[in-house]
Amino acid sequence: MSEFDFGDSPLEMDHPLGTHLGIRLFIQRDDLLPFPLAGNKVRKLAYEARSQDWQRGDVLITNGGVDSNHCRTLAFMAARLGARAHLVLHGGQQDEGSPALRLLAALGATFDVVSSEEIAPTIARVQAEQRAKDRLVHIIPGGAHTPAGVEAYRDVGLRVMSAHQDLDHVVLASGTGATHAGLHIAAIQLGATGLVTGISVARHQERGLAAVVEAVSWVEPSAARSVQFDARFVDGGYGRASRATREAVDLAWQYGLPLDATYTGKAMRGLREMVREGTIAQGSRVLFWHTGGLMNHLTSLTEELS
Ligand SMILES: *Cc1c(COP(=O)(O)O)cnc(C)c1O
Repeated sequence: MSEFDFGDSPLEMDHPLGTHLGIRLFIQRDDLLPFPLAGNKVRKLAYEARSQDWQRGDVLITNGGVDSNHCRTLAFMAARLGARAHLVLHGGQQDEGSPALRLLAALGATFDVVSSEEIAPTIARVQAEQRAKDRLVHIIPGGAHTPAGVEAYRDVGLRVMSAHQDLDHVVLASGTGATHAGLHIAAIQLGATGLVTGISVARHQERGLAAVVEAVSWVEPSAARSVQFDARFVDGGYGRASRATREAVDLAWQYGLPLDATYTGKAMRGLREMVREGTIAQGSRVLFWHTGGLMNHLTSLTEELS
């Protein structure tokens, strides 16, 4: 088994926030997975580690935003394994001394901060340099948007949904779509069409839905139907948050549930709206799949200060 084959995350039953929302709220706490900076990238990358067979001394190259959970989690896993992470980072207004970059450096990761056109050539250059040193190089697609990432969520989805067959809805934040795709496959395999709804955190309806359907078909082509992807709450795109999203985040914190406005807060806002409009009936049993994002929330707090 893999180096990162740790225990599972807790499932909280009947969370008090549910009373406020008018539903029975269950929460899969992937923000409490037993690995630093827990979130869905931990599950996705643990499967990626196994599928690519990362070993001590190997070089792991990936790309993502300066503040991306994917890159941070990869840096942690590389440090734990004694592998080398090289991160090709983009979209950063942040300078050398930013907390996000200092955290990566503290983990021993190396990185380049480049513009989006430079991502592919930079990855190719670093790969060639590392191979010239006779190191085994693994390239991990941004966001761990890979078949292994989908399988990670298919497998946990099957465990959780088969143990709780009385669920009426499963709701999660959907970004690149691999997490959503995995949970969707699990639901279809259990005969629960329409159980899972992904709330888009950035992409508009057509493109976002197509990405989830594509990710489903990498792993289980027969399940590539009836994907429920709701892009009504993207608030103008990635990293932007409306007042309604911020209110959903604030409400959750008041109940001791840490959410963030980039990912989980949008999903919670969507859940609230769906209860209001009756798409989710009052009193339903709803599993909210918490995908992490605490670091995003902390970053947004410091940005508000500056
Ligand atoms: C990456 C991320 C997501 C989106 O996951 P996808 O598999 O890309 O859809 C959701 N929530 C958090 C906190 C994330 O870091």
